[in-house]
Amino acid sequence: MSGWNNIIVHHSASGWGNAHFIDQWHKSRGWLGIGYHFVILNGFTTSEDLKSGRRFDELIGQVEIGRTLDGDQWVEGEEIGAHALGFNADSIGICLIHRQEPYHPAMQASLLDLLTGLMRRFDIEAKDVLGHCEVNDKKPLCPGLDMAMIRGYLI
Ligand SMILES: [Zn+2]
Repeated sequence: MSGWNNIIVHHSASGWGNAHFIDQWHKSRGWLGIGYHFVILNGFTTSEDLKSGRRFDELIGQVEIGRTLDGDQWVEGEEIGAHALGFNADSIGICLIHRQEPYHPAMQASLLDLLTGLMRRFDIEAKDVLGHCEVNDKKPLCPGLDMAMIRGYLI
């Protein structure tokens, strides 16, 4: 067994959603279930919410659990995610609900908190926190954050 070596940050490219919907989307691709370990909400749960501008402020930046980690440092069977080709075996995946609008500050604050906690718990360095776009050049818009700036906050 080996440990978690990277954290990879994604966006949903959807503008709305939550861990439940992503679980359904990923199951419809024939996967086991949600491929990310954590999801950070943007306040729009459904496509109707987004269309009508009905944003739930209390949900903005809330962290949901996707694929479950048991909390120890080792990577075990069903904990392995499905989010970044070539990196799944040792990477924790975080997905921000986001399409192309500027990120809400509460989502960024929440991401930094989550990253800080995971880095401490699993002994991961800031240089190993990457955006999907940095490990797959076919995903240039994922997650749509300045990852060098994010890493700068984590050191
Ligand atoms: Zn991605």
